[in-house]
Amino acid sequence: MRKYRINEGVRINRDVKKRECAFTDVFEGFQQVQAVKRIFGKDTPKALAGLMVKVPSNARWGYMWVDEKKGVLVVNRSYLREGDIASLYLDVIHELVHIKQRMEGRDLFDEKYEYVDRPTEIEAYTVAAGEALRIGMSRRQVLKYLEIPGWLSGDVLKRLCRNIGM
Ligand SMILES: [Zn+2]
Repeated sequence: MRKYRINEGVRINRDVKKRECAFTDVFEGFQQVQAVKRIFGKDTPKALAGLMVKVPSNARWGYMWVDEKKGVLVVNRSYLREGDIASLYLDVIHELVHIKQRMEGRDLFDEKYEYVDRPTEIEAYTVAAGEALRIGMSRRQVLKYLEIPGWLSGDVLKRLCRNIGM
């Protein structure tokens, strides 16, 4: 983790036993991260303290997402255990943007738009990519972080990058 300029206090507890727990038990120190403070402003401690995380062990796909109905963060257990730590960190930032959008009553999965054109995604990807550059990733490393072979790659990835000004 120290390869990148990530706050000293940030810790990711990869070995969560429970299926549902407090965000702050799994993801420590995020209330001190500037990018997170910019998302929630003065409500940052309250927003994080009230957030729950679900860690299903039977998720066959996906990394991390927001359960829009319940307003909880969902993290694939195997991703939490084995995923690249910087990717996990940046995914948390991305999903916290969605948590804030949900608090504002916005539709996170507006089907009018394709995924990479959806305003809520563009906003979340912009924040996460900005943080990626800030912690010291090169543009190439950011692209590698964003790429999901077979889904978010090639021309689609290019379109996303254009949308977020990368
Ligand atoms: Zn998203």
